[in-house]
Amino acid sequence: MKIMAVNAGSSSIKFQLLEMPAEKQITSGIVERIGSEEALFTIKYNGEKFVETLPIKDHGVGVQLILEGLIKHNVISNINDIEGVGHRVVQGGEFFKDSTIITDEVLQKIIDLGEMAPLHNPANATGIKAFRQVLPHVPQVAVFDTVFHQTMTKDAYLYGTPYEWYTQYGIRKYGFHGTSHQYVSERANQLMGTTQTKVVVCHIGNGASLSAVKNGHCVETSMGFTPLEGFPMGTRSGSIDPAITAYMANKLNKSAQDITDILNKKSGYLGISGLSNDARDIEAAIEKGNERARLAFDIQAKQIADYIGSYYVYMGGLDAICFTAGIGENSPVLRQMIIDRLAVLGVELNKDLNKLRGERLISSESSKVKVFIIPTDEEVMIARDTMRLSHE
Ligand code: AMP
Repeated sequence: MKIMAVNAGSSSIKFQLLEMPAEKQITSGIVERIGSEEALFTIKYNGEKFVETLPIKDHGVGVQLILEGLIKHNVISNINDIEGVGHRVVQGGEFFKDSTIITDEVLQKIIDLGEMAPLHNPANATGIKAFRQVLPHVPQVAVFDTVFHQTMTKDAYLYGTPYEWYTQYGIRKYGFHGTSHQYVSERANQLMGTTQTKVVVCHIGNGASLSAVKNGHCVETSMGFTPLEGFPMGTRSGSIDPAITAYMANKLNKSAQDITDILNKKSGYLGISGLSNDARDIEAAIEKGNERARLAFDIQAKQIADYIGSYYVYMGGLDAICFTAGIGENSPVLRQMIIDRLAVLGVELNKDLNKLRGERLISSESSKVKVFIIPTDEEVMIARDTMRLSHE
């Protein structure tokens, strides 16, 4: 059966069509700059890439274009060939403990949860509405970033804030990138041949988070109430002293929201280095001896190693560390900087293997903890859940 995995943003729709249960990608693409006269529609098929520039008024038009594109490029002969559509939804709160078939009530709940994820859930909901309208008889499934982390216990997910903030306003750690953490930790267990494991997944992309996964269940994660918590990322600061927000709002004569925007969009690699949010630019600048670029990686590596140390204690040991996402999969430099800081745990990389790409073990033979590169595949996770739920 053919399943579409969709990731809708405020002005974009990314999609992949997969043949299931073979988990084979048939085609992928993206509609970008929705709402503009010069929007872009890209579709990749059979090793070829087709790009069109055209006006795209809204998400509905974007979805029409995707479906017409699939037929035009002979990917499918009829839109009824698509038997399920899975949508990435960022915030599922405490309400959603599993992926779910999208009904009117589910859609409304996703919109309501947008209060906690204003940058993501409304856009995800717009994508859902557009696909439901064009494919009304096809099961639509919501797959939440937060679900995998719902197995954390209160000592891990509650903050030291007044308890009523949690009961009345939902203030707690939710965690994000859940489909990636689940995919990678399950794959690590497959590679180790057992589910009785203690694994740390390092999802390091432009957005980045860690998870501690014990016997297949998430017990800790670095992102929190929003994706801002954790360690420095491409443009996000990660955790800071919360008093800094009010202090800097006063100093810069800005609102708390303005400061939060700076912490989300102008911090991390970009803010520390003053150069770029892109890890490749940071690496190139480090090569040329740029101190602040070096600092951007150093601060991130230090904090990631600190998290891994705390997860080692929390899980009572560690069998494997897995690197994934754009930087985790592709930056031997950052991986080495992180693992060097964990030498006290007996973790060691094989320097030659660390230079390679693709799924592999990269730790040395004598390392007490295995280290893997495991390329993530969030679309496969979305397609698996969509297949499972549309058959129930
Ligand atoms: P993601 O958010 O997972 O797409 O990851 C984006 C990040 O991956 C960007 O900071 C890229 O610079 C980084 N990235 C992609 N390819 C490489 C590479 N070959 N070396 C270092 N970083 C890379």
